[in-house]
Amino acid sequence: MQRIEHLIDGTTHVGTSGVTKPVFNPATGAQTAELSMASVSEVDAAIASSKAAFAEWRHVSLARRIKLMYAFRNLLEANADEVARRLTAEHGKVTSDALGEVARGLENIEYACGVAEMLKGSYNEAASTGVDVYSVRQPLGVVAGITPFNFPAMVPLWMIPNALASGNTFVLKPSERDPSAPLLIAELAQEAGFPPGVLNVVHGDKLAVDRLIEHPDVKAVSFVGSSPIAKYVYETGAQNSKRVQALGGAKNHMVVLPDADIDLAADSAVSAAYGSAGERCMAISVVVAVGDIADPLVEAIKVRMEKLVIGDGSDPASEMGPLITAEARDRVAGYVQQGADAGATVVVDGRDAQFDNDGFFLGVSLIDNVTTDMSVYQDEIFGPVLSVVRTDTYQQAVDLIETNPWGNGAAIFTRDGGAARQFQLDADAGMVGINVPIPVPVGYHSFGGWKDSLYGDTTMYGPEGIKFYTKAKVITSRWPDPAGSSVDLGFPTNS
Ligand code: NAD
Repeated sequence: MQRIEHLIDGTTHVGTSGVTKPVFNPATGAQTAELSMASVSEVDAAIASSKAAFAEWRHVSLARRIKLMYAFRNLLEANADEVARRLTAEHGKVTSDALGEVARGLENIEYACGVAEMLKGSYNEAASTGVDVYSVRQPLGVVAGITPFNFPAMVPLWMIPNALASGNTFVLKPSERDPSAPLLIAELAQEAGFPPGVLNVVHGDKLAVDRLIEHPDVKAVSFVGSSPIAKYVYETGAQNSKRVQALGGAKNHMVVLPDADIDLAADSAVSAAYGSAGERCMAISVVVAVGDIADPLVEAIKVRMEKLVIGDGSDPASEMGPLITAEARDRVAGYVQQGADAGATVVVDGRDAQFDNDGFFLGVSLIDNVTTDMSVYQDEIFGPVLSVVRTDTYQQAVDLIETNPWGNGAAIFTRDGGAARQFQLDADAGMVGINVPIPVPVGYHSFGGWKDSLYGDTTMYGPEGIKFYTKAKVITSRWPDPAGSSVDLGFPTNS
């Protein structure tokens, strides 16, 4: 059985805790590896290594840091197929999704290659006579990243490039369910030439996370995962005087107005609800059908669902893979039953789909006539289940988004520019799509939601990412009047 180990100080660190966890291929249900879980002393060793590396790394020139970032980018691009293969083998997503994930990660490295532009600071000449005032941004020190299972390559890349480019060193604690792709990415950074200790990887669960968020040498924590853990990490990190950005879960609504292009809305709903088996924080989980579009829209979605090919993500014919674990599959299937029991209409029941192996597969479900008191509406299901809530008016749809505790993303489908513009103003969410179901910003705009989808006040990557990983310093400097200078500047001297 393959053993997956930590990466500390530039070398593989064979785990000493004696604790391991199995890693599975969700498409077969078979265990494929054994993962070493870090002890407190192993987390401490990674932090100590990053702290030692910071002493030199923060003085490495911008020019050198950017060169290394380019080399890292090129190596990742050259190894995209292998990273994607590992994603599919441990997460289950189809190869095209896996390659798309790597592409989004690359965008963030490319952004970090332009870090010099972001670190320019500002300068005021002659704030007072002989006095100039200027500001610079400096790195924080050792920063930690704790990432979820659903984007094991992309989410670490939301953090690492900007953190390293701005002069920090980094300890990554990836999800214990699919650790191979982030480990390979860290090895590629090593190969690109980042010095040992600048990027360390420790595997683990709550024990490792708790150590990272309490350790005095960790200056900032970036977290992405479910809302309860995001809140816990935010609160505990703050209690330990750390800067924290903690992105949580979601329940994204897609409002479809009566004038919408039904084919576009139905295609979008299907890809956004069932892509990556619904295990995306930007997945659409609620369609809000306004007025008389509901019946034809539900029918158009249903027709498309019947054509979806579900299978092993490594099979090019597959459009959707399995869920991450058997427990996740059973939990998600349980929601379909809860919806039925609560009186909703199960239009398509994913539990009816048959699969001929032991993979963690579940068919796609569509539940109509969902109301806000039902668990299918209230909980983040994080699986291939799409709810339809019917409203009479646009305002009721907007109110649903506003009263929902999450605010990651929201989308509207309409042919009316005025309605779209109004929605852009009204939607109580951090990322809004207009005729776009999954409004994921590009690497040069930052990513993050509102309400329970984000604890902290900086979102991730892009300009806010650089801001998070740097602290401002303002310098006030006075130099004597040139007339009094000891160097002959061509002014008449006082003597
Ligand atoms: P999770 O919260 O279970 O785990 C996230 C990380 O926290 C993992 O590294 C895990 O090891 C660690 N962790 C788990 N339990 C912990 C505990 N009790 N104490 C300390 N650390 C703990 O999330 P997940 O299941 O891996 O990922 C899915 C969730 O992530 C969904 O809720 C999804 O919406 C969310 N997500 C959000 C975004 C976003 O941008 N807002 C992006 C991706 C995923």
